[in-house]
Amino acid sequence: MAAPQKPAKKSRSNKVYKAYKVEGGVLKRLRKTCPKCGAGVFLAEHKNRTTCGNCHYTEFIKREKQ
Ligand SMILES: [Zn+2]
Repeated sequence: MAAPQKPAKKSRSNKVYKAYKVEGGVLKRLRKTCPKCGAGVFLAEHKNRTTCGNCHYTEFIKREKQ
């Protein structure tokens, strides 16, 4: 079955540009990218995890208590 067309009412703010940073002429990726979707898809950062909005891949952040 064909996927239903989603109305483009909500325009999701594109924050992808924030995921890149150029330092000394070198492009750095500030965010993690989805291992499933590839380098073009960034993971959304949450408190204790990062998730992919595309495939819902979730990666938990191991953060040691200080
Ligand atoms: Zn993904």
